[in-house]
Amino acid sequence: MLPNGLCAKGRCPSIDPVFFQSNNAGHKTEGAKRIRMMTREQWEAIEGKDRRADGHFWYAVRGGKTFCKPSCPKKLPRVDRVLVFFSCEAALQAGFLPCRLCRPDRAGWKGAKADLAERAMDYLENHMHEKFSLQAMAEALHTEGSYLLRTFHDATGHTPLWFHREMRIREACDLLENTDEPVAGIASATGFSTPALFSRVFAQMRGMPPSEYRRKSRDAADLISQENSSEMMANAAPGVFWTSSDNEEIGT
Ligand SMILES: [Zn+2]
Repeated sequence: MLPNGLCAKGRCPSIDPVFFQSNNAGHKTEGAKRIRMMTREQWEAIEGKDRRADGHFWYAVRGGKTFCKPSCPKKLPRVDRVLVFFSCEAALQAGFLPCRLCRPDRAGWKGAKADLAERAMDYLENHMHEKFSLQAMAEALHTEGSYLLRTFHDATGHTPLWFHREMRIREACDLLENTDEPVAGIASATGFSTPALFSRVFAQMRGMPPSEYRRKSRDAADLISQENSSEMMANAAPGVFWTSSDNEEIGT
């Protein structure tokens, strides 16, 4: 069981437990309860992109245009913006369109082509730090490269190369947000052969260079800590912030 207000990765300690409800509540009526609060188990399924949860519920993001299956490979939504639906139809009625990546409207999401696309996603996930090769992937999945490319694109709306890059860039975002590792180190850790290539791909995928992404992602955290420290400063005695080096500089 997770501690109150903490996500599975412990990254969102500010989650208000009000977004979760016990697993048995909310099932009683249709209509008004079509959109319901998310259970902790549902969030864990979304967070873990758990395919076992597919078909049990669907989710959309408040303010977004599309709805997804729990296993959708796209970027994790903010926990406090997730809306959960009992059925695909309920999500459509609420005005959301099916996500092009996970195709939540396709019943069961089975069949040979879908199965191949899913196995390709697994392959890409397991080989995300290696150089992308359509040929190597096709051989590993016992199929033809051109057939794999077309099938993958039909199923997900993206090419395997896009998916491969997206996973690397997602990992890079995580490192930029949560570590002080230099950009060159992150480029190498996420499998890019040069920092220049990393920066170019990152800018293509996220619309800004990695350094700018890092700066922006930390703005919110900085704002919070500034608010906290200004509160402390208001209560502190004058002069308490001079350090010995500040005094030396002023004295010379
Ligand atoms: Zn989706």
